[in-house]
Formats: sequence, C-alpha cells, structure tokens
Amino acid sequence: MANKRDYYEVLGVSKDADEAEIKKAYRKLAMQYHPDKNPDNKEAEEKFKEASEAYEVLSDKDKRQRYDQFGHAGVSSQFGQGGFQWSDFSHFDDFNDIFGSGGFGSIFEGLFGGGFGGARTRQSSNRGQDMQIELSLDLKEIALGTTKKIKIAVKDPCDKCKGTGSEDGQAETCSQCKGTGQVRTVRQSLFGQMQTITECPSCRGEGKIIKNRCSKCRGDGRQDKIKEMEIEIPAGVAEGQYLRRRAQGNIGPRGGTRGDILVLIHEKEDDVFYREGDNIMLDQAISISQAVLGDEITVPTITGQAKMKIPAGTQSGSMFRLRGQGIQGLRSKERADQIVKVTVVTPTRISREETELYQKLREFDRKREMKPGHSFLNRLKNIFS
Ligand SMILES: [Zn+2]
Ligand SMILES: [Zn+2]
Repeated sequence: MANKRDYYEVLGVSKDADEAEIKKAYRKLAMQYHPDKNPDNKEAEEKFKEASEAYEVLSDKDKRQRYDQFGHAGVSSQFGQGGFQWSDFSHFDDFNDIFGSGGFGSIFEGLFGGGFGGARTRQSSNRGQDMQIELSLDLKEIALGTTKKIKIAVKDPCDKCKGTGSEDGQAETCSQCKGTGQVRTVRQSLFGQMQTITECPSCRGEGKIIKNRCSKCRGDGRQDKIKEMEIEIPAGVAEGQYLRRRAQGNIGPRGGTRGDILVLIHEKEDDVFYREGDNIMLDQAISISQAVLGDEITVPTITGQAKMKIPAGTQSGSMFRLRGQGIQGLRSKERADQIVKVTVVTPTRISREETELYQKLREFDRKREMKPGHSFLNRLKNIFS
C-alpha cells in the first residue's frame, strides 16, 4: 500500500478524463493484460488487477470524487483490509461491453477458476472449447463459393464410457450442492449482505461426482478423434473474415455440448488477377496498332476466357468492364465485374519491315501536335465503358 500508484496514472488518462475515455483506457489495458494472452504471468495478472481497481474507482462518480479529494485514503475503506479484491469489482457486466460477450467467459474463468456468476459458467464448463482453423482460398473459390474438405482433431465422446466418464456408468449426486451444481455464498458488501450463486466447487457445476473413473479417458468422457469435415464457404468472403460453424467442434466433458469451429479465411494471391472489393482486376497489354485501330482480344476470366472489344483510339490505362465476371458478393446474388485495365506496350525489338512502317508513321506523327503536361491524361479518366 505504501507506494500505491495514482489511479489516473495507472489508466494513463488525465484528471479530467470523461467516462468514455476512462472506459477506453481500461479496455486497452484489460486487452493487453488479458489472462488468456498472458497465461501464468503473475505480473500481467497484477497489472490487470491494478487497472481494474483504478477503473472500479474512477468509473464511479462517488468514489472518484472521494479519491480526487482525499487520494487513496478516501476510497480504501471501500475495499477490505487487504485492499482491493476481485470480489470488490462491480463491473463484470461491463466486461460484456468491453470484450464482447465471448470474452467474458474466458477472462473470468482465468481469474476465478470458473467460479463466478452461476448460470454463465455452468453453461461454459459443459461446452466444448471453440477451435479455430485457417483456410486459404484462391480467387476462383472466393468468387464462386466452394466446399472444402478438411481433417481436424476434435474431442468426441469417449467410446469406452460413452462419454459419461464413469467406468461403470454410475455417478453419485454431489453432496455439497445436492445435484444442482450451484452453491450459495453470503458475503458482506457495500450494500449489506449479498448472496451470490456460484458454481459448486466439488462437482464443478455438474451436480454429479464420478467415483469410479473411466480408465480410458480418466473421467473426462472424451477422446481425440480425427474427423473429416466439409466446410461450406459462401462466395464473397475476404481475408481475415471468420465463419462460425456452430456446435460442430469439440464436445464438452461428460456429455457436454459441442463448441464452435471458427474458420479464419485467407486469400491466396493470384498470379494474374487481383481483387478490388468484389471486382476482379486484370492488367492486359495491347499493342500500338490495336490501340490505334481497335481489335477484338481474348482475355482470361476467373472461370475461363472472354472476348473483349478494344475500340479504335484506345488510350493506355483505359479500363473496360466485363459484367458479371467478378466475385459474387456475400449478401448479393449477383456477381460483380471483371475490370480489364489495358496498357499499350511499345515493342522494343522490331523487324526491318516494321522499322520502315514506323518511320513512315513518324512522318505523320510529326505533323500532329503532342502537348506537354498532364492535362491530356484527364481525358482518359472516364472512358470506363
Ligand atoms: Zn471414458
Ligand atoms: Zn456439486
């Protein structure tokens, strides 16, 4: 307690920070020192606790005022003799806000061994852990959607004990909680006596205790199994997106429910095409004569080939649209476009005959005015056909 840090300093905010700034600062620190990100790191745990204490005080108008006026002495009476404890923290519901509801369970299990707030942990303790897999998709798979076959190791019910975890199939009702999986504890708080319902520590919320554990799974009720799975990928997904396959992953211990599979999408780079939003881009070289006289060329598309007209007088850098040859949007039924950007390429090795022809052309070109500057490029900008 001797050299307790200033709460504002702990959160890294100024003395006149508003509620939103304080929340934001705490969120940042909590993310940084999240127990999941720092397993078995005592220092991170302490920092997290310190930040939580600061947040507990500064997010409360009353406590903040007292702290501003009297410093630590003004609020120490709020906490027990040993100073701030997690049981003094009154913002667990804010965690939903701060971490999203998914982050709550994990943060909280790391800190409390799954012992707080009854129903929520009861649910999570019986649910298999979510798992993440990564899938790399090429542009065609992204454009049209695909189904990927994968092999993954997931937790399945133990085949010896049928997932019960019990060698003889028997389980006793937990005597501490009488099978409810929950215990009530009464504690003193700021607001007087408070009753909290927590997960029963004897049976970890399961309500049953297995005396004779299955010899194969040691009472866990699960075994690893390699599973082949088909993952359907809708068209239009993008790098970094997640798809959630609900209840298809690990099963929870002893007859629990299945967790989710999170599929993280990666885009493979393509040698020919690139992506802009849902449009597929292609750079295509054309010759000087094709640019001047026009031509019909064949260009690759994601599914094959397409014929494309180059109009006479096409400028280098012009873009042409092949409708419906792009990526099908995640939320639309229609495919976006392929956009072909043409570049006029100057030949560097030409025959004698070509040389003579170009020399003739140069005579014509010398009579043509070629303007300096970049203003003539402006004309090119909107020739999107
Ligand atoms: Zn078993
Ligand atoms: Zn129990």
